[in-house]
This record gives sequence, structure tokens and C-alpha cells, in this order.
Amino acid sequence: MTQVQDKADVVVIGAGVIGCALTLELSRRGHRTVNVDKAPVAGAGSTVNSCAIVRFSYSTAPGVTMAWEGAQYWREWADYIGVEDELGLIEFHPCGQLLLLTEGDHHAERCRELWEELDIPFDTLTPDDLQAKYPWLDHGLYGPPARPDDPEFWRDSTGNLTGGLLSRDAGYVSDPQLSCHNLQRGAEAHGAEFRFNAEVVSIDKAEDRVVGVTLADGKQIQAPVVVNVAGPHSAIINQKAGVFDSMNIKTAALRHEVHHVPSPPGVDFEAGGVVGADNDVGIYFRPEVGNNVLVGSGDPTCDEREYVDPDDYNTNLTEDQWNAQVLRANRRIPSLGVPHERRGVVDLYDVSDDWLPIYDRTDLDGFYVAIGTSGNQYKNAGVAGQMMADLIEAVESGHDHDAEPVVTTGRYTGRSIDVGFYSRNRQVNPDSSMSVHG
Ligand SMILES: Cc1cc2nc3c(=O)[nH]c(=O)nc-3n(C[C@H](O)[C@H](O)[C@H](O)COP(=O)(O)OP(=O)(O)OC[C@H]3O[C@@H](n4cnc5c(N)ncnc54)[C@H](O)[C@@H]3O)c2cc1C
Repeated sequence: MTQVQDKADVVVIGAGVIGCALTLELSRRGHRTVNVDKAPVAGAGSTVNSCAIVRFSYSTAPGVTMAWEGAQYWREWADYIGVEDELGLIEFHPCGQLLLLTEGDHHAERCRELWEELDIPFDTLTPDDLQAKYPWLDHGLYGPPARPDDPEFWRDSTGNLTGGLLSRDAGYVSDPQLSCHNLQRGAEAHGAEFRFNAEVVSIDKAEDRVVGVTLADGKQIQAPVVVNVAGPHSAIINQKAGVFDSMNIKTAALRHEVHHVPSPPGVDFEAGGVVGADNDVGIYFRPEVGNNVLVGSGDPTCDEREYVDPDDYNTNLTEDQWNAQVLRANRRIPSLGVPHERRGVVDLYDVSDDWLPIYDRTDLDGFYVAIGTSGNQYKNAGVAGQMMADLIEAVESGHDHDAEPVVTTGRYTGRSIDVGFYSRNRQVNPDSSMSVHG
């Protein structure tokens, strides 16, 4: 038999970086929130293994605008959090992002156009500039990306990089899980409650409205508003709420490997490295603590997409993907080598049909979603929290968001962000890169 345990204004399902940022925003505005997570601590879902890269290289104007606003939160983190954390606060490393340029790279050209249009600062680097700043970089062209078992992978260079675009304000956060703890402490200072080891097993409804959630231990939390921020489990929670079929854009869990390789001999990549985006070989990279190079996948089409059950998938690094990614990295950084010992992480992206997130209400009154973060929304956690709180307050006050989408004004940049862009019922956005680039 279930028993009524408690009441709240809002139940947030998920204490990852997006769920915690939303909880901070709502609790600061005076809403009584309960954040429930089946994990024992905050940030133990996909956030813990995030590469936490903060960059502005998105394919759409709203994507760039949101990332630029989102970046300011990391710069102003101590003020934003507003309290001490006994574990310390995260550090944002503004090492810059280098978008490598090749003839005909539409994504990079699109970013350049958007940055000019939206006044996002960047420098254009010539091949000589690249050589001077990053002497470890090979300038050859090896694309389109292939897998090492394809003879095309081993082709000689067919040309040269034409330069790069450097965003000096970009960088990364070295401890993404700690950022969740910081957000938790910030929210608790405003009365937010966090319950861990608390798995939501049902979304409770009365007529056409959500009325709360039931946990695996049978306890219920009653609330007129429930928000699905369950990361790679988002589709499962939507199914429990009965809203999965009514959304035009769906989400699914996609397995990803990220590899850590020691810096090339004589290179202090941790101190002098940069976030790199390389569509020619199909990777991204950034400095990683311990003087490593972190290597991730740019989702080239030759790599099979591995959609999985988020509760049952291979959590080990595979030899196949290690070889593909690290060998690709060697094309760009030839002194890197391919270490025998595989190191890195395996985790899941919560991917939407067009690799753009869904920040929206649903057809079930009171039930909201902040999902489909597609491997690229860590950086946007702060602004996503603000946007979702604006949306919830507007809709709960009677605003028809589907007819007239809410517009958020960025707290730091003052720029307008049309929440309707992230609608559950949009058509697949043809401007999306359909990859982690967003
Ligand atoms: C390998 C990798 C690299 C990435 N790199 C970057 C990057 O460089 N830059 C960037 O901006 N973004 C990046 N991302 C994306 C970013 O990390 C995610 O978008 C973000 O962390 C998602 O946060 P979240 O709070 O939505 O989800 P999560 O952190 O996954 O949190 C969801 C939480 O919900 C809980 N939960 C699930 N089901 C239930 C249930 N039934 N009951 C209770 N709790 C439940 C889980 O335990 C989990 O803690 C990356 C992601 C991955 C996986």
C-alpha cells in the first residue's frame, strides 16, 4: 500500500546538472521544491562523465545565443551559487576553443556567420598562426572520417587546413559532478529538499493533470508540477507519464566513449592546450587533468550509432572505438601515440531526433520536460534552469505557451531566448548538425 509522504510545489526528477540548476532557480524564486534522484548523490548520472566543454559553436542562432548566455554562469559561478560549499566550488578553465577550418566545412562556416551576426568574440587564425600557437598540430586533410578497418582511413593527406577560429572565452569545467553539488548547496540555502536513492516508479495523475510521483519504496510526493530532467532515462519517464506518444520529437539513450591519452612528450597540454573541434577527422579534444588529452567523437556517419537500454549497456571501453578515436586523434596530433592501456569513460547522451534539446511543457498539464540534451547541454545548465522556471511560472499562471511561446531574457547578456525553439512538437530542425555539435 502506498502512503502520502509529503507535498511540494514542484518535484524535479533528476539531480544532474540541469535538474539541479532548475531546482536552484525555482527555490530562489520561493517555490517549495523536492528533487528526487535514484542515485546516492547529485550528478551521478550522465553529468559525472560529461566532458563539460563550454563553447559557442552551434549550428543555429538560438543555439549560439543560449550557449553564450550559458557560458556567463560558469564565469560568474561563485556569485550565481551564492553560498559556500564544503567540497569547494568548480573551476572554469577558459583555455579557448579552436574550430579547425577546411575548404567546404559547412558547420565551421555557419558558426563564423552566426558569431559575426550575434557579436560573439572570436579570432581568425591563419595556418602560420596555428603553427606558432599549436606546434603539435598536423595541418593535413584526412577526411571524410573513416574507421581504421577501412583502407580509406590510411589515405595520405589530400590538402591542408585553411586555418582556425579561436573562441577565447570557451573552455571547460574540470569536475562536472562537483558543479551539481554546488547547485544543490545553493538550492538548499533557499529551502530546496534533495532526496537520493529515491527512484520514481510512477507519475501520478488525476483527470488531465499531474498530481505527483510515487517512489520505489511506495512513498508519494504530491505536487501540482513535476519536471522530467532524467537525462538518458527521459523517454522512460515520459512513457510513465503517458506523454511519450504525444510528443513529435522523441529522445533515446545513445552510448558514447570518451578516451584519455597522456599528452605527447614535451607538451604540457593541461597548461597550454585548447579545446579542439575537428570535423575533418571527426573528433573533439580538450585538456584533461593529469596532463592528458581527452578525445571525444564528433559523431561521424561512419561510426554506428549505438542506441541502448539506459539500464543495460556495455560500460567498458571497447578496443574498436578506442582504436578509431585515438587513431583519429593521432592524425591531428601525430606525437600522441596509441597507448596499450585504454583509459576514459563510457556514458549516455540523451539524444533527441534532431540533437537539439526539448525544454517544454507537455500535453499532461503540470508535467514539464528538460530533456534531449544530446551530449551538448552541460554548458547551458544555468540558462536552462532560468528558462524552465520562466516557462513553468508562465504556464502555471495561465499562459498558452504552445500558442505564444515564452521568451526568456538572459540574466547576464540580456539577450532574448525563444523557448518555443525547443518545442516538443517542432519539426526536425534541418539546420542542426545532427551531431553533438547541436
Ligand atoms: C560522455 C559525455 C560527454 C559530454 N560532453 C559535454 C560537453 O563537453 N559539453 C556539454 O555542454 N555537454 C556535454 N555532455 C552533455 C551533458 O553532460 C548533459 O547534457 C548533461 O549532463 C545532462 O544533465 P541532466 O541533468 O539532464 O541529466 P543527468 O546528469 O543524466 O541526470 C539525470 C538524473 O536522473 C536520475 N534518474 C533517472 N531516472 C530516474 C528515476 N526513475 N527516478 C529518479 N531519478 C532518476 C539519474 O539517476 C540521474 O542522476 C556530455 C555528455 C556525455 C554523456
